[in-house]
Amino acid sequence: MTPPGDPAVPSVPVHTLAIAASGARFPVRRIYCVGRNYADHAREMGASGRELPFFFAKPADAAFSVPEGACGDLPYPPATADLHHEVELVVALASGGRNLSPEQAAQTPWGYAIGLDMTRRDLQAAAKKAGRPWETAKAFDFSAPMGPLHPVRAVGALSSGAIELWVNGQLRQSGDLADMIWSVPEAIAYLSTLFELRAGDLLFTGTPAGVGAVQVGDRLEARIERLGMLRLQVV
Ligand code: MN
Repeated sequence: MTPPGDPAVPSVPVHTLAIAASGARFPVRRIYCVGRNYADHAREMGASGRELPFFFAKPADAAFSVPEGACGDLPYPPATADLHHEVELVVALASGGRNLSPEQAAQTPWGYAIGLDMTRRDLQAAAKKAGRPWETAKAFDFSAPMGPLHPVRAVGALSSGAIELWVNGQLRQSGDLADMIWSVPEAIAYLSTLFELRAGDLLFTGTPAGVGAVQVGDRLEARIERLGMLRLQVV
């Protein structure tokens, strides 16, 4: 008989992400994502442009790190014929709380990374049409590739700067962090009215216009000013 308190299956390790210029790892608790946070992308998805933010989530282990300077493998997921890229600023929290003001929320980030909110767009369209949840479209395995995290103490608080994505050398997405409808502190503050936030939580902060499909063999390069490059090949 298993002694009381022992795990019923082998222990699940805490999921961690790489930190730039450091051997330390960042433990991931939850992954939240903001929908439609750039007006030009909101318009391309059929919305008007200024609505309250809305959120969805990915499992912690959907995120994976691509080391600085390396080209990571991005597995093409099953059950889709329309896998889309969405380049996003990812904020990793050092602390959290409930009902934070934007000023309090501005103190919570530990660091930032480049991330891709990979999306099975065909499954998302079917879910929207049927009024069903988005998990199969957004929360699949390997749906959140990321570059290493850069601490706030190294790069400062990011509120502006270019955010770009190329596919096979062609620029597909180009925006500026300053174009977010809800700033990072505003999005964190609003999210904290819905969930108690804690250290280890990640927030994907939305994508600028230009989302589109990728195929096996495509090379993706994402850049955010001050955060370097994220390189992937779809396999
Ligand atoms: Mn997104």
